[in-house]
Amino acid sequence: MVRKNQRQIGAPAILALLLALCCQAAAGDERKQLAFEVVDRNAEQMALISDSIFYLGELGMQELESTRLLKQTLEAAGFKVELGGAGMPTNLWAEWGSGRPKIAIVTEVDALPGGSQTPGEFERKPLLAGAPGHMEGHNTHGGVASMAAFAVKEVMARDHIAGTIAISFGPAEEQLASRPFLVRAGYFKDVDAVIYLHIGPWLATGYGLQNYAAISSIFTFHGKTAHGAVNPWDGRDAVDAVELMDIGFDKLREHLRPSYRAHRTITNGGIQPNIIADTGQIWWFVRDASMPAAKETYDKLVKIAEGAALMTGTGWDVKYAASAWPQLGNKAIAEAIQRNIGLVGMPKWTDEDQRFARDFQKSAERPVVGLRTEPMALGSRAQSTSSNDNGDVSWVVPAGIFNFPSSVPGIEYHEWHAAITPVGPISHKGQVTGAKVLAASIIDLMTTPDALASARVEFLEESAKTPYFALLPPDVQPSIDLNRAEMEKYRGAMQKFYLNKSPRFN
Ligand SMILES: [Zn+2]
Repeated sequence: MVRKNQRQIGAPAILALLLALCCQAAAGDERKQLAFEVVDRNAEQMALISDSIFYLGELGMQELESTRLLKQTLEAAGFKVELGGAGMPTNLWAEWGSGRPKIAIVTEVDALPGGSQTPGEFERKPLLAGAPGHMEGHNTHGGVASMAAFAVKEVMARDHIAGTIAISFGPAEEQLASRPFLVRAGYFKDVDAVIYLHIGPWLATGYGLQNYAAISSIFTFHGKTAHGAVNPWDGRDAVDAVELMDIGFDKLREHLRPSYRAHRTITNGGIQPNIIADTGQIWWFVRDASMPAAKETYDKLVKIAEGAALMTGTGWDVKYAASAWPQLGNKAIAEAIQRNIGLVGMPKWTDEDQRFARDFQKSAERPVVGLRTEPMALGSRAQSTSSNDNGDVSWVVPAGIFNFPSSVPGIEYHEWHAAITPVGPISHKGQVTGAKVLAASIIDLMTTPDALASARVEFLEESAKTPYFALLPPDVQPSIDLNRAEMEKYRGAMQKFYLNKSPRFN
């Protein structure tokens, strides 16, 4: 083919360029084939990691056993692993290689409260009543991220490719509780690109704003107790302030942008009616399509708290709980991911997989559509109104967003149905696809300086439109006791479900 071009064009300079491009492409293809072989021969080990984490079922900040397993597996695979960075015992950062380019996979492995469910059973049947469990499938992130990083490492080692492959397992994604701390601690300062990994019912990537900004704060009012019947005029009712804050915000709703979301729960509503409450508390989430818009609404919410305190003669304070910037998907990285989605394609579902999915959808009263057989087209995903704290990362480093098809369409997360399939054949096949696309995309970024450079140029342009600011107050430390009591209530009884295996890549 090249020789034919040579005769037709007859220009040595063009020939040299074509040869270089052709060899580069061929080398890239061959490297990806090696990565795919590594994934195929380790598919059982990858599934074992993900399945093990499923049965550990650990809540955010309490991912002690899950991160221990990942640390041991990754260390055995030759990675340098740090556990406990940025002041969080379950924050895991793993690396292999040295210097630049440095590409990081960003993900999480936390479960959800009350999510315990027997996999494969369509009826509500917790493994342990009330216990936490993986009713979103973050367990699969552990296997896919580790597997892809190992496959990339094998290619880099064989071909002496310069650079660093890293994985960041951030704690407590479900509480939006860790990534702003990772950004503050400087983990991404020398990273050239990240790919954020998440389970989905589809094989997809995207670019632009992918989800919503969120600010979560807890407002506490401080009043004075008095007998509700004998001397109420001596009391100052902190729960009145909570109510007035709620009413005040409802008056504001009409004047907010249509894109906003705001929701609250009253976390302290007094003790009993005949005691004027000296403490009242309300926990708010404010969201919008961009962080400046969310912050604008949030600032108004703070003024409403001030007004509620003034009206009731109470004192008040506000505590930062969490925040998340919307994910800013980088188009250059998304295009690289999409090319590899095209290369790998969807898993080959068997008739049995499709039958299972349809039976599942039917039993859960969802549209009976089976499993997707085609990847999503690039740019076809709308901005979602949910939030993810890895959004902060995407404003300090170019970020690709990637979903791999390990869950069943129509089965929404955060409810027990979603805990039926994170282990099992559909999940395992989706993980193989996910690890291959991820590894191939990282190989592209690692070995194509032009791709990284265009991702950087685009990132600088896009992020300059909304300059990043930290919501995290400088003195705030991570809530490492988050979920501890809840987890400790169940951990002992959950141990009988542990797989107690040691996954090893080869
Ligand atoms: Zn998630």
